[in-house]
Amino acid sequence: MIPFFPPDLFEADRADLLEIMHAVGTGADQRFILGGRTAAFEDALRRRLGAADAVACSSGTSALSLVLSAMGVGEGDEVVVPALGCAPPAATVCALGAVPVFADVDPWRLVVAPDAAEAAVTGRTRALMPAHLFSVMADMPRFADIARRRGLRLVEDSALAQGGELGGTPAGLWGEAGVFSFVQVKTFGTAGEGGAVVTRDTGLGQDVRMLRNHGQDGVHRFVHHRVGYNSRFDEILAAFQLHRLPGLDARLQRRADIADYYTDRFADLADHGICAPPPGRDGRCFYVYTLLTEAREELRAYLAREGIGSHVYYPRPLPHQPAFAPYAPPNGRWPAAESAARRNVSIPLYPHLSDAQVEHIADSVCAFARLGREEAALQSHRAP
Ligand SMILES: *Cc1c(COP(=O)(O)O)cnc(C)c1O
Repeated sequence: MIPFFPPDLFEADRADLLEIMHAVGTGADQRFILGGRTAAFEDALRRRLGAADAVACSSGTSALSLVLSAMGVGEGDEVVVPALGCAPPAATVCALGAVPVFADVDPWRLVVAPDAAEAAVTGRTRALMPAHLFSVMADMPRFADIARRRGLRLVEDSALAQGGELGGTPAGLWGEAGVFSFVQVKTFGTAGEGGAVVTRDTGLGQDVRMLRNHGQDGVHRFVHHRVGYNSRFDEILAAFQLHRLPGLDARLQRRADIADYYTDRFADLADHGICAPPPGRDGRCFYVYTLLTEAREELRAYLAREGIGSHVYYPRPLPHQPAFAPYAPPNGRWPAAESAARRNVSIPLYPHLSDAQVEHIADSVCAFARLGREEAALQSHRAP
């Protein structure tokens, strides 16, 4: 079996994790949050990126809340977010009393389309929040241009793109602030929850740092400058992430190599109704490998019979979700998001897949495509 979500991500790090837990647990200062390890981790992130500041916090979602809050987004404001994707960009806007405005995505790249985002701008729009999804970075030069022309704040949801670069600028530094997520399944996932805000703006970084710990400035305890959050970072995870950081580039490289191999193998499957993602390395960060096909269920059943797990990210556009429908115009349509939600399916992509496994996955997708949809359906019904 080749699972879609491998349970052994941290197998090689077990002994180190235990050692770290022991060191933090028995340390003389008994410091478990926001200590020297968190500071060292933030410094490593900041230097690696060339950012002015990196603030570690409790999750990627929380990182978005901290940024929006630092920017003063609130009641009466609108923020343009992608119509297809995970909940956090929309949910964090709602939680501040502001309104998410859903913009349709590019039909192939699957990230929010700059034209659709600009068309969604009104007099109440405060910020644009594109997200990098499906391993493709949003068109940040265009978003930066729209933000500048229309006088909007630019928040970059780079939770899934840590390590990616577009035109030489790293993911996270295109916006006034970007975010990372360290939840287990992300490319720099950890053994728990965590996130970070990264920014070129020292002042914004300071505000986020304050908001992370109930609006305190880190010098005077119980003096609250702003209404903040509890979004503090854990010392064990800080040490574990410092331990994992040097291997990140090699793991990302392996993911990109696997993705390139898939794209090569799938280049001529479009005629067979299976569309591979846009090729290339610029503006990519290989988190998932996502195909588009009308024969999604048949393909998934076929792969399952071949011992290959698959996954459907975002089976419904956000404005069609019960939670967000009240924020969306009642007869709104997001044709590209709707179509992609119906057709997307992701196949395994992680660094410790063996070459033989990668070949088997590619062979299976190609075999399915050549078999034709009806025959594949027949075969999966015949399966034991
Ligand atoms: C995972 C993710 C988040 C939220 O990160 P958490 O750490 O899970 O809270 C935000 N945006 C995107 C695009 C994500 O994929």
